[in-house]
Amino acid sequence: MAQKKYVYFYGCGSKNTEGNASMRAILGGKGANLAEMAKADLPVPPGFTISTEACAYFSAHGEYPAGMLDQVKKNLKLLETRQGKKLGDAKNPLLVSVRSGAAVSMPGMMDTVLNLGLNDKSVLGFIESTKNERTGWDCYRRFIDMFGDVVMGPTTGLKHEDFEVEMTALKKKYGAKQDTDLTADQLKELCGIYKKVYAKKVKKPFPQDPFDQLTAAINAVFGSWNSERAQIYRQINKVTGLLGTAVNVCSMVFGNMGETSGTGVAFTRDGSTGEDKPMGEYLINAQGEDVVAGIRTPKSIDEMPNEGDKIWTKAHKDLLAIMKKLEKHYKYPQDVEFTVQEGKLYMLQTRNAKRTGLAGVRWAVEMATGKDVVDGSPRPKLVKPEEAIQTLTGSDLEQLLFPILDPVAEKKAEVLTKGLPAGPGAGVGQIVFDAAEAQRIVGENKDAKLIVVRHETSPEDVGGMWAAQGILTTTGGMTSHAAVVARGWGKCCITGASAMAIDYKAQTLTVGGKVLKAGDWISLNGSTGTVYAGQLPTEASPVVSGVVQGKKSAQKHPIYKMYKQVSDWADKFKKIDVRTNADSPKDAATARAFGAQGIGLCRTEHMFFEGDRIWAIREFIVAEDKAARESALKKLLPLQRSDFEGIFKAMNGLGVTIRLIDPPLHEFAPTTDEQQAELSKRIGVPVAKIAARVKKLHEANPMLGHRGCRLSITYPELCEMQARAIIEAACNMSKKGIDVHPEIMVPLVGTKAEVDFCAAIIRKTADEVIKAKGAKKVAYKVGTMIEIPRAALTADAIAETAEFFSFGTNDLTQMTFGYSRDDVGSFLPDYLSNKILPVDPFQSLDTTGVGQLVEMAVKKGRGTRPTLKCGICGEHGGDPASVKFCCKTGLNYVSCSPYRVPIARLAAAQAAVAK
Ligand code: PEP
Ligand code: MG
Repeated sequence: MAQKKYVYFYGCGSKNTEGNASMRAILGGKGANLAEMAKADLPVPPGFTISTEACAYFSAHGEYPAGMLDQVKKNLKLLETRQGKKLGDAKNPLLVSVRSGAAVSMPGMMDTVLNLGLNDKSVLGFIESTKNERTGWDCYRRFIDMFGDVVMGPTTGLKHEDFEVEMTALKKKYGAKQDTDLTADQLKELCGIYKKVYAKKVKKPFPQDPFDQLTAAINAVFGSWNSERAQIYRQINKVTGLLGTAVNVCSMVFGNMGETSGTGVAFTRDGSTGEDKPMGEYLINAQGEDVVAGIRTPKSIDEMPNEGDKIWTKAHKDLLAIMKKLEKHYKYPQDVEFTVQEGKLYMLQTRNAKRTGLAGVRWAVEMATGKDVVDGSPRPKLVKPEEAIQTLTGSDLEQLLFPILDPVAEKKAEVLTKGLPAGPGAGVGQIVFDAAEAQRIVGENKDAKLIVVRHETSPEDVGGMWAAQGILTTTGGMTSHAAVVARGWGKCCITGASAMAIDYKAQTLTVGGKVLKAGDWISLNGSTGTVYAGQLPTEASPVVSGVVQGKKSAQKHPIYKMYKQVSDWADKFKKIDVRTNADSPKDAATARAFGAQGIGLCRTEHMFFEGDRIWAIREFIVAEDKAARESALKKLLPLQRSDFEGIFKAMNGLGVTIRLIDPPLHEFAPTTDEQQAELSKRIGVPVAKIAARVKKLHEANPMLGHRGCRLSITYPELCEMQARAIIEAACNMSKKGIDVHPEIMVPLVGTKAEVDFCAAIIRKTADEVIKAKGAKKVAYKVGTMIEIPRAALTADAIAETAEFFSFGTNDLTQMTFGYSRDDVGSFLPDYLSNKILPVDPFQSLDTTGVGQLVEMAVKKGRGTRPTLKCGICGEHGGDPASVKFCCKTGLNYVSCSPYRVPIARLAAAQAAVAK
């Protein structure tokens, strides 16, 4: 049987190179790109790559797969022959670097060991063959340090700092300011000291056999794949499904051979602003790690031609030409590493450049339009719009929409804790523990900047939440009350920051041993869930001023123009509609400005958040008899009708799905003494009576309790009032020339009989209203939420009555997993860290489990009613991966909060283009 191939040669001409860029999965990003550059005959020092499959085998079995070591030996021999040198030879040694590299670049893994192959004898051979004594000892001391630190460090505790103190002492001894001031003899002395440091900690002398050095380095790279650092990195960045890391064994080139040598890193474009201008840094007479280690201050690559020696002018010219070529080849800006050895330029690495969201959007737009977004000047046209949008992520666009924390300040800030990234953007303000207090403070001083910090929030906190810059809670998941409300407004919010302890009485917040008081400043990054101490500076978004406020000056801003271009492309390519979840005329108008094509969910209970309205719904909740309920409903009807009118107007010509009221009682019932006293005052019912009623209403599991259509079945008058308010509003608006398309939706359905019961009331009421108003143009639809697993299982029967389905994936996730939406924050971190779950299922749809129910319900529903319109209105409607699943499943639309509409449009376009 032919042996499996684990080792791939690259360099020494394109015909000798075995891999290419498409082999990322097995060669890793670095290995695949080295091969690709070598294939393009770019100056790459030759070497070989050991595959990620070998790493996977090593991780599983603790040994190399059969044949791997032979292949390493064979390729090493090949490399030695082609370079005319031998690894660690006493006369003319080949030196190599050993570098890790997975398919996704991962800072958590072992980085690089340089100058491998040096020992007490080969260092002399190296000096002899290069005629450069100083470089020889410099390379040897670097190698002992790096080998000790990165190869032996993880098992022995040996660290770079152990060597560094000796270097500092030696510099002091000889009055050397920089390491480049040390002479060859002094560096030789340092090598002796370093070997002692090594032997003391490792309890063995520094290895002299070059092949032993090589295998130890290979083992260390393989081992680093499962280091704690690497695992945490993969978890945070949701890197899954990779085999392991590849190992790149590359022949060394030397940037530390004197004044005509050097090393550096460069970007083909600016990774922070996105400007089409190469940028980078280099150091003369240095090796790779010096540039990033900050020992000496590197110079900008723009300085290269001014070095005096014309080799630097040529190296600069060659570097720019290669960078241009690479960008064109990869159709994406690159981040490269290079070395100049005695005047000759070598490329050591290239990869798609890391960047900010802003830079990513600017690159995408400029590469596809061939025009600079700032001054309109011509730029290279490298990709088609459909390719450009594939390079973007939802969070890139998100960064353009919200004020963000100043990235430089954020890097330096003190992290207090982390929670769930429930509402994106930046929130900077003074701590306030009471939402009503926040509302009061902002009422008195509209410039006050506050962060509402609570265990959890409830509807009556909404005023204070709105007044604040951000919301921070200790409990709750991604679909908790605070999260859903904040996201609807585009407000910064972090939930489930469970490491914090709040003492409302003492007005303190304790986290990590630090005590913060009301009034102390904190800063939230709602896109990452990080909470910082202090008042960090923020940057505002011209997109929001241009889109939501329609400000003409903002619409001329380059950031607005980029957003607009990406949105236009998204609309051109996407195949499904993007609707919005909006509960007020204002939110509806905002969403429409962001491109929403209708309302997918109007949560009518949320309409009672504003002002004093909560009391009207509370009056209904505590009413003991039909007369009391009807009196409460009379107050609710005009409020609802006028809101619906505003929403129909904002959505003129588009579908508006309005859901019957669905208030979980724990959120809406007046539970505190103050609330009960206030309600008593308002409706003239004794507090004791209200308290007794609330006690009776208490539910052990309110999320599974008396909510949704269950309320309409107990109180049909509620369903009737809402149908009346909706259709009266539609008729009134239709009379004013507005094109209305009401869609009335029944929530929390599990059986066909429930839909039948509610639909009968709705249809009877609606037909009466239409007839009475003579509104011939008003046509309505009655449909249902699919958010209980039983509804999905019996979707064929439900579709006999329901004219549309909307998947409420918040509840569907809650009920399929059996995880309470409100309490998931208490155990989710453990589930994620133990890899029980790959991601939070309330954030990104569980396509394998919950997704099956969605697919089945669509199929069954359309089996009964082929024209059945299906959409999704859970929070997943704004999550790019979930949107892509919805496109694949054949949904007609996704619906999400207003500020996520642009992100959903982009995801829908990406799904369409990917097909
Ligand atoms: C859902 O359950 O997904 C949904 C949209 O309804 P709510 O979040 O209001 O329960
Ligand atoms: Mg629901």
